[in-house]
Amino acid sequence: MSFAGKTALVTGGGRGIGRAVSLELARLGAKVAVNFAGNSAAAEQTAEECRALGVDAFAIQADVADPAAVDGMMKDVLGRFERLDILVLNAGITRDGLLLRMGGEDFDRVIDTNLKGAFNCLKAACRPMMKQRYGRVVAMSSVVGLRGNGGQANYAASKAGLIGLCKSAAKELASRGITVNLAAPGYIDTDMTAVLPAAAKEALLATVPVGRPGRAEEVAAAVAFVASEEAAYITGQVLCVDGGMAM
Ligand code: NDP
Repeated sequence: MSFAGKTALVTGGGRGIGRAVSLELARLGAKVAVNFAGNSAAAEQTAEECRALGVDAFAIQADVADPAAVDGMMKDVLGRFERLDILVLNAGITRDGLLLRMGGEDFDRVIDTNLKGAFNCLKAACRPMMKQRYGRVVAMSSVVGLRGNGGQANYAASKAGLIGLCKSAAKELASRGITVNLAAPGYIDTDMTAVLPAAAKEALLATVPVGRPGRAEEVAAAVAFVASEEAAYITGQVLCVDGGMAM
C-alpha cells in the first residue's frame, strides 16, 4: 500500500485519532494538510512530524462548522497540492448530557461540528474530486452512532447522521471513481476519552471483548486501508474499529 503522489486533508488532524491518521498517511507517502480548530501548536507539531517522514505537510486552521472557512481551506489546500485525493472527515466534539437536561445549544454545536462540518468539507471536496475522477473519503463515525448511548443523544445523532450522509454520497459519487466509507471507533485512548470519570471508563471497558481501549494508530491503519487504491471496490461501508464492542 502506497500513497506516493497522493494528497490528503485530515480535519482535526493535529491531535488524537486525526494525528495518527495524518502520520500514517504521511508514512505511506501522502502529502498532508493538517486541519485544526484552535490548537495550532498540536497541528504544527503533527505537520512537522509528517515532514520528518519526507512528505510535504502543513497545518491549516478552519472551523469545519463554518462553510466559508471550509471553502477558504479547500482553496488553500488545492493551491498548495493542486489536487485532493484523500479527505478524512475526523473533526468531532462531545457535549454530553442526559436528554432531559441537554440544552438546544449543546445539541446544535455537536451537530454543527460533527455532521454539518463533514457536509461542508465533503461538499467543498466533491468538485475537485469529480474533476480528477478520483477520491477517497473516510468519515469518523462511532459505535455510538450505530447503537446509541445514554447521555450522548446529540453525539449519537451526529454520528448516525454521518452514516446516512456518507452512504448517500457513496451512491452519488461512485461512478466518478470516488469512494466514501466510515470508520466507527469504539473506546479509543485520546483526549476525548481521557476526561471521562474512572467509573465511566471501567464501564466502557467492560463492554470491549478485546479487554483494552484501542489506540489511535489502530484506527489510523483502518482508515489508511479504505483510503488506499486497493480499496477501490469498497464504498458506503462502516468499518468498526472497536475491539468487538458493537458486534
Ligand atoms: P480529540 O478530542 O482528541 O480531537 C478532536 C479533534 O477535532 C481535534 O484535532 C480538534 O481540533 C478537532 N476539532 C474539533 N472541533 C473542530 C472544528 N469545529 N473544526 C475543525 N476541527 C475541529 O478527539 P479524538 O481524536 O478522540 O476523536 C476524533 C474523531 O473520532 C471524532 O470525530 C470523534 O467523535 C471520533 N471518535 C472518537 C472515539 C474515541 O474513543 N476517542 C470513539 C469514536 C469516535 P483542535 O486540536 O484544534 O482542538
